Parts: sequence; C-alpha cells; structure tokens
Amino acid sequence: MSIHEPALAQADPETYALVQREDERQRECLRLIASENYASRAVLEACSSSMTNKYAEGYPGRRYYEGADFIDPLEQLAIDRALALFGADHANVQPYSGSPANLAALLALAEPGDTIMGMSLPAGGHLTHGWKVSATGIYYRAVQYGVHQTSHRIDLDEVRQLAQAHRPRFIWVGHSAYPRALDFAGFASIAREIEARLVADIAHLAGLVAGGVHANPVEHCDAVTTTTHKSLRGPRGGMILCRQEHAKAIDKAVFPGLQGGPHNHITAAKAVAFREAATPAFRHYARAVVDNAAALGEALRDRGFELVTGGTDNHLVLVDLTNRGISGRQAAIALNRCGIELNANSIPFDPRKPFDPSGVRVGLCALTSRGLTLEQMPTVADLLQAGIEATVSGHGDVDPAVASRLHGQVREFLSGFPAPGL
Ligand SMILES: *Cc1c(COP(=O)(O)O)cnc(C)c1O
Repeated sequence: MSIHEPALAQADPETYALVQREDERQRECLRLIASENYASRAVLEACSSSMTNKYAEGYPGRRYYEGADFIDPLEQLAIDRALALFGADHANVQPYSGSPANLAALLALAEPGDTIMGMSLPAGGHLTHGWKVSATGIYYRAVQYGVHQTSHRIDLDEVRQLAQAHRPRFIWVGHSAYPRALDFAGFASIAREIEARLVADIAHLAGLVAGGVHANPVEHCDAVTTTTHKSLRGPRGGMILCRQEHAKAIDKAVFPGLQGGPHNHITAAKAVAFREAATPAFRHYARAVVDNAAALGEALRDRGFELVTGGTDNHLVLVDLTNRGISGRQAAIALNRCGIELNANSIPFDPRKPFDPSGVRVGLCALTSRGLTLEQMPTVADLLQAGIEATVSGHGDVDPAVASRLHGQVREFLSGFPAPGL
C-alpha cells in the first residue's frame, strides 16, 4: 500500500472498497432518478471536513457549547447566502434533511391534531405532506388533494373546495413526482380565504427556483422547506426559509423541538452549494435541466411512450408504461441491469399497487450536471427504449447478453461526459 493511498483504504479496506465501487457505479450508469445529482468536489470536501467533530447546539451567537468560534461565522455565511439566493426574510440551515424540515414546519405552524392539507402521495405528493404512514398523517388530521381526472394537473378548484370544506390550519404545496409548474399565487389566495398557513416544499425544485427557471414561492408562503441535495446539487440536507414573523417559531421547532447539534460539516457544504448556485453557470445549468427534460420527453413521445400530462415544465417526466406491456417496477429493475437507473412511480389514478405501479419517473438533474445537452437526448431515449423493448420481448426479464451490451453502450456514451465530484 503506497503512502498516497487514502487513509480510509488503509484503515478500513472493506468500507473503502464499497465507496470505490459506488463511485464507479455513479460514473458508469445513466442516472435518471429525479431526486439525485452529482455534488461538486468542493461540496464533497466540505462534507468530509473537521466541522463534523464539533457540537454547536443553538444558533449563531447563542450556543450551549464552548468553542463555536468558527461554527458561528460558518452558519451565518450559509444563512446569508441562502437569504440572498431565495430572497427570504429568515433561513434555518440546520434541518438534517427534507423530512425533518417538514416536521419542523408543522411543529412550528400547526398544533398536533390540527387539520392539514397536502397533495396525496399517489398523485405526486410526498409522504410528509400527511400520508397515513407518516408521522404527519398520524399526528395531524390530513386531507389530501390530487390531480384532475382527465388533465392530470393540479386542479385549484378542487383544492379550494377541499379547503373550504375542511378548513385546514396548514396547507402544503409541493411534490416529488409532478411534471408541471406550481401556481404558488393560486395556492396563496386559497390559503388566505380560510386563514390557513401556506408552506411550499421545494425539495425537488430548489435548484430550478435558484436558477430562475421556476417561480419562487417565498413571497407567497409563510414558510418554504427544501432539501439541499436534489436539483440544488448540495450535500444531503434540509433547510427552511420563512417570514420574519415565524422566525422564532421555526428556529425553536428545529432546535430544541426536533434536533440536537447541527451537522456543521453539512452546513459548510450547504454554504458552498449556495455560493455555487448563485453563479451564472448555475443559472445556465438550471435552464439546461428544464430544456433537457422537455427534449427527452419529446424524444420519448416520438418513440411511442405516453407521458403524464403530455410533457413537462420542470426537471422530470413521468412515463406511463401501460401501453408498453410492462410495469414500472419490471422496467426499473431491467433498466438497472442495463446501466440505466430510474425509479418505478405511480401515475395518476394508477390501477396498480404503489410497490409495482404503472409508470417510471425520469429526471434530468444528474445527467445535466455531466454536461449532457439537447443533442444527447435522442440517444438517452434510444437507450431507454432499447432496454424496455428487450425486457418486453423477454417476458419481463432482460436477456443478460442484451443487458451487458446496453451497459457497454451506456458506458461508452458517458465516457465523454465526466461525472463532477468523482
Ligand atoms: C425528497 C423530498 C422530501 C424529503 O427529503 P429527505 O431528505 O429524503 O428526507 C420532502 N419533500 C419532498 C417534496 C421531496 O421530494
């Protein structure tokens, strides 16, 4: 073992080998999971810094442990950058991830047992918006809106009707699998009519908002929650932005309400990611993500695939595989063997079970980070089509020889597009 070998390789060869293999997998596979991305080397370095060694319960200037000399300015830097990026009054950068951020928003702005309203999981919403198995569906009385029966878009008339009938104290606007732009102003006017709190969850959209290609919810909402690792391309983590009037309640809900010491190494990486997201290069990236998603959607339609709502306004397309004779899960498993990574997803009014639904979700954040442009989208569509057709003709299982040939094509195709960070 040479002295240039990383410490991890020497200290723990088993863990090191798994990390190496994951690096290689991420380099060599066509990553189309809509919630995933490639963080930059700078973000990864910040994640692995000495900041992980420090306890700093509390907030800048008000800590329960000594020695926060450099944690305070670090957290303030992340906060200031977040405020500048999204134009908010107040930011809390401590949430460990998107789900804890959402719980904190509920803890701050609703009472246990209150009625809350959110988009249902099968329609494209998130577990934490009141789905029954989530704490948010157990401790709150959740009412769920879906999408329109035929357009498969959010129907503000339905949202208004449910809001008037159930008078929720708290309304979520946000999604994990909805291909169309959100009308934050429309939701805000419904929330105002019933004096409900409106909270946007832009976990999937934060990079698009920061990059100026999706409407910004900040001015319309009491609070905005997000992850930092999806389209925003930062470390795995969460954040809450809010109006000044809710600042104290939000901070108290995160700590001591839900969490202990902040993950300062992740705060450092969030600061780096916010700086990166404020650059012209990132605006260009966000535009390219949306353009690539639209182009891939069109290329798939040209190849006979059906898209939920017929297309996309954001970073993702939902493909309904009903007319292809294959389920979403079969497709996802087979494509993974071909080096193409995506996830099975319910489609609106899906007759199949959530574990084996009728569709797949395809997102462009990660591939666009590798520099793929409009020019490459027909090839991506060809690869998807080849994997799916080989699986259908193989009665739900892809021939290993075909899978290996396709994986070879994927590897060669991607070799011209280095993966950031790795
Ligand atoms: C991903 C996601 C979350 C949860 O984020 P985690 O970091 O996985 O906890 C919350 N809300 C929405 C809309 C999401 O897409």
